[in-house]
Amino acid sequence: MRCPRCDDPVVIVEHHEIELDHCLSCAGVWFDGEELALLFAKAQIDIAPDLASILAEPALDDDTVERIGEAWRDCPRCGDRMDKVPVGDDEDTRVDRCDAGCGLWFDGGELRSMMRHLNDAADGALERAVAFVEEVFPVDDEPTEEPA
Ligand SMILES: [Zn+2]
Ligand SMILES: [Zn+2]
Repeated sequence: MRCPRCDDPVVIVEHHEIELDHCLSCAGVWFDGEELALLFAKAQIDIAPDLASILAEPALDDDTVERIGEAWRDCPRCGDRMDKVPVGDDEDTRVDRCDAGCGLWFDGGELRSMMRHLNDAADGALERAVAFVEEVFPVDDEPTEEPA
């Protein structure tokens, strides 16, 4: 699979028996269909209702995406253009979602932003989830340097 953002090949990251596709160049993360729910289930974190509400958010319309200057990304599985889905009222976090149900793409740092946002909304009840995500993606905020 290639990164929908920079077209580099992604690597498979395995953590707690969950396999995720991770781009080392831009620090983005791809979740196939149910992997995100599986990740939280493995971490024994029950945030399914919050997550479901995010994934059910209506996508931004084309005009809004153009106005805020977001780049469209094509689904790395089926090649269709993905939807932009806002996470709550967090202006900086917009997840790419394949309308065909292939999965979700988080740009580098977006997954952590989403978790922090959910955690704030839940009055800190999701600290474990935040810690788990940061354990899986310790360098999520900064793209990994290419080895010389
Ligand atoms: Zn990339
Ligand atoms: Zn797709």
